[in-house]
Amino acid sequence: MDWPAPQDFVHGDPLPPPTEWARPGLVMFFNLECPGCVSRGIPFLKRLHAEFGDQVNLLALHTSRGHRLLPREDVEPTLMRFARDYAQLPFPVALDLGGDLARAWATEGTPHWLAFAPGGELLRSVYGSQENAQTRLQYLLEEVVGAGNLCSRHSIYPARVPAAVLQTLLSLTAADALGAATEFKTPAVIRARYGETLTDYQPGSVFGFAPGEATDDSQMTVATLLGYGQGRGIEEVLKALCAWLEAGPPDAGRLTRAALRHGTLDGGARAWTASGFQSAGNGGLMRVAAVWLAGFGGEDLAREAAAVTALTHADPRCVYASIFLTAFLEALHTGHPYRSAAEVALSVMDRLDARRTLLEAGILGLNTRAAHDAFRAQERAARAQIRARVRSGLEGHVSSQSGFVLDTLEAAVAHARADTWLAAVEPAVLRGDDSDTVACVVGAIAGARGLDVPPHLLPPLRLGHSWPGWKREWPCTEHFPAVLEGARDRG
Ligand SMILES: [Mg+2]
Repeated sequence: MDWPAPQDFVHGDPLPPPTEWARPGLVMFFNLECPGCVSRGIPFLKRLHAEFGDQVNLLALHTSRGHRLLPREDVEPTLMRFARDYAQLPFPVALDLGGDLARAWATEGTPHWLAFAPGGELLRSVYGSQENAQTRLQYLLEEVVGAGNLCSRHSIYPARVPAAVLQTLLSLTAADALGAATEFKTPAVIRARYGETLTDYQPGSVFGFAPGEATDDSQMTVATLLGYGQGRGIEEVLKALCAWLEAGPPDAGRLTRAALRHGTLDGGARAWTASGFQSAGNGGLMRVAAVWLAGFGGEDLAREAAAVTALTHADPRCVYASIFLTAFLEALHTGHPYRSAAEVALSVMDRLDARRTLLEAGILGLNTRAAHDAFRAQERAARAQIRARVRSGLEGHVSSQSGFVLDTLEAAVAHARADTWLAAVEPAVLRGDDSDTVACVVGAIAGARGLDVPPHLLPPLRLGHSWPGWKREWPCTEHFPAVLEGARDRG
């Protein structure tokens, strides 16, 4: 069979030819100079990997057919960097240097897809990066993979929302709701009132949330997703957050209120300026998982996370913490082990010029000159502090569960290392203080890791606030799929 030699696999483990496969699979012929391959084909393969995991074989095969014929030393290093650092591909990549394999398989251009049954029968040969080609391939894989888990999953959730994405939104919301009862309490008060363990929703929220109701963290995450559902622009996210605030949530943070009251993209920069460049709360970090859940990836994810955070929290510590967290979620979701995912995410954070991103997004500008200068003066130190606190969290150190963004980040990284969902979330809940927010961030990380939320926490789960687009009495399990589908469906 025409197949890459083992030495032509430049990323991941060599994959044997389809004749030796025990599962179905998909091969994409692509080229880095093909925009449709990079912007649609590669993300589609990553989504398939997230959806099907080890039930399918996936291979990206870089071919020169239809593109420039370059010597190996000009292609291989770039391709390796792309696969490893930029796209962080969880499947193997091989090189069809002279285009012979593409010719043998009669590809029509790039991307071109070959779908194989177990044993190597060619099921489909499809050219193109458009949605209809992808949908046909996805259905085909679902059909071939069989009637196991996937079918039951799809009868419950819309096909376009990967189950892992829905699970992550449920996970962060359930963790937040579990922490609602202990928010602002001390560990001693928590133990006296609830005992040594806290594994189910409890009454006693200082803001009057009922058991099972999640707080501002999850609400703002959902509001952000509802904003993306209105179109791609960050203006829609801002509008959605303002609509949430106008409906009068009891627990909105001080800086969040101050920023959103401006109703402008630079409200966060203005509020930060008014704080004397001191405020660095966790109000951006707590909701930024929404950007990853909305389907952003790679560098787009980092840029969007920066902008969405700075809508309310423009301090570079807040902005870079969010860039780290969203990159961390993406890396964990694509299968990186915990520590390596954290290092990948730190390098994403180091590479992004967030100040430029905020200028381009209209969040920093002529009217917020002082904020711009303060951001520039503080960003290097901010990144260094985040690196230090992430590494300290990786060692299990928790300084405090205060609402300071770096405390929250360190605590979340530390707690979320645990082996099970409750082992990760419960310590955050029992430690009190800003427990709901720390738990919420832990819940996002646990979700991206694929840790299962205990089933008894799902049916009672609600958001404790009504605003345009959401009703307080709605069960999260019923309404989250549509929220996610809307957000991921944007233009
Ligand atoms: Mg909260």
